[in-house]
Amino acid sequence: MTTLNNRRNLSQQLILEHSKKPRHRGKTEIIHRSKCGDNPSCGDKIELTVQLNSEGNVIEDIKFEGEGCAISIASADLMAEALCGKSVTEALEMVLCFRGLMKGEAEFPSKLNKLNVFQGVAQFPVRVKCATLCWHTLRAALEVEGF
Ligand code: ZN
Repeated sequence: MTTLNNRRNLSQQLILEHSKKPRHRGKTEIIHRSKCGDNPSCGDKIELTVQLNSEGNVIEDIKFEGEGCAISIASADLMAEALCGKSVTEALEMVLCFRGLMKGEAEFPSKLNKLNVFQGVAQFPVRVKCATLCWHTLRAALEVEGF
């Protein structure tokens, strides 16, 4: 088995694990931002809730509810995991990075490399919408009320 195949299998395992047992399902204790998003081409629907710090510039917690395919749920769960403790500015940069990842033009740095498991999805345009749904929703949630 080649290294590439190993990497692909590990990605699939991680996606399955996070879709079966998401750790960030639910609603944040305090809801500063919330946004629903859907991907009609697959039937994925998620609602994100975001809790910010008192200055409103750092994400303290992020949770999601909804249903969808394994990729959309795993993406939301891994996104939530990666975003806790990040500033809003960093989060918006990560949205751009994820878009780049889906175009095969960018990769997350090593401390965020779990998010690179979605690299393989970039080959399947239909699945790209599943993987990016939560990121689009997040951007809308963070920008909708302005600063
Ligand atoms: Zn989907």
